[in-house]
Amino acid sequence: MSMEILKKADPQIYEATIGELRRQNDKLELIASENFPSSAVIETLGNVMNNKYAEGYPGNRYYGGCEWVDVAENLARERASKLFFGAEYVNVQPHSGSQANMAIYFTLINPGDTVLGLDLSHGGHLTHGSKVNFSGKMYNFFAYQVRKEDGRVDIDQARELAKKHKPKMISIGASAYSRDWDYPAFRKIADEVGAFLWADIAHTAGLIVAGELNNPMPHCHVVTTTTHKTLRGPRGGMILMGKDFDNPFGVVAPKSGRVKKMGELLDSQIIPGIQGGPLMHVVAAKAVAFKEALDPSFTTYAKQVKANAKALCEALIGHGFQVVSGGTDNHLMLIDLRNKKINGKQAQLALDEANITTNKNAVPYDTESPLLTSGLRLGSPALTTRGFKESEFKLIAKWINEVISDPENEGVRKKVKGEIGELTKRFPLYPEFLRGLA
Ligand code: PLP
Repeated sequence: MSMEILKKADPQIYEATIGELRRQNDKLELIASENFPSSAVIETLGNVMNNKYAEGYPGNRYYGGCEWVDVAENLARERASKLFFGAEYVNVQPHSGSQANMAIYFTLINPGDTVLGLDLSHGGHLTHGSKVNFSGKMYNFFAYQVRKEDGRVDIDQARELAKKHKPKMISIGASAYSRDWDYPAFRKIADEVGAFLWADIAHTAGLIVAGELNNPMPHCHVVTTTTHKTLRGPRGGMILMGKDFDNPFGVVAPKSGRVKKMGELLDSQIIPGIQGGPLMHVVAAKAVAFKEALDPSFTTYAKQVKANAKALCEALIGHGFQVVSGGTDNHLMLIDLRNKKINGKQAQLALDEANITTNKNAVPYDTESPLLTSGLRLGSPALTTRGFKESEFKLIAKWINEVISDPENEGVRKKVKGEIGELTKRFPLYPEFLRGLA
């Protein structure tokens, strides 16, 4: 990525891109949903696959000239299936996690139907029933929560709500929940009330395929994910099923009368239902990322992501921080700042000035407004990609403590920023892109 052509064609966008590259290189990226994909993935995102319209699926497109994009999409599908324990159904075309989720709603249930999902303010995602999202506007949502005592998902409450409200679908998965999921227990509840069980593993997919977290594939009717978080690929979404099955809605193929598979319904929900042409450069980059994730080195990476999150979490607890649920099983943690007399927004801003990038986040049973929040969400995937190990994450905990203990002190922030500069120099990000820059 020399970007010499861009530099001449559009100096302003060139400068913004270099600024962003330097920001990523100079700061400590602790946002749990972000990662640094390989240079091969980045290169694929900027190539001519972008130019091709390929509505439809491999071997069955609306347009001619799809022979090479078919190769890319078939590789992405085959690799994804292998990665996800031999999944029978894969759709790699969703432009984002939200669009993968939209396809699930539009295929499996009808507007007005009842759905059960994790409360947004307890770690859930916008697309799991938030009032400002299509999901909350179109469907009748009931939310289960985490228990006040231990910050863990209250499965008994989920069961009670399911029995009472008879949802057509139950969603599991989260954006800010640091514990693993009991998929068989949720499947039991879903079966008891005749609901579909859908897992959204957007955050945890990379750890799941590496065998570092429980596997939802045998237990859920459908699974969705993003490809850019722990999976470390390009931005995008994906839909999977461990086993495809006959649709229970009586939808048949027009000529033969054959009952269509759920996978066929999902495919036609993505295109022509909610999307047009797939982003073939992204699909190709997904294939590249899946190849990387199939390599044994990815398991080493996933183990380190978990070890680093644990090290950061334990060190923060050692500095007197309160962590929701008392720890982490995965790549992230939610810090409850209430004992530190600082809100999430103030903490995020102070850390930002010290070159530590985080996001403020509501904690369960939060007493602050969603604009301020009482929490911070921290994650280890991006810095683990940079090569950080437990000792670096312990240092990060020390710096977070120094900044948050004295948020008005510019001197502390300056000192921490200087120390971070020394550390990041030892772990250059995208060195081949940085080379040659003044
Ligand atoms: N689902 C979960 C659990 C997420 O955390 C996210 C993103 O943060 C999404 C879905 C949506 O993904 P995207 O931003 O690609 O639409």
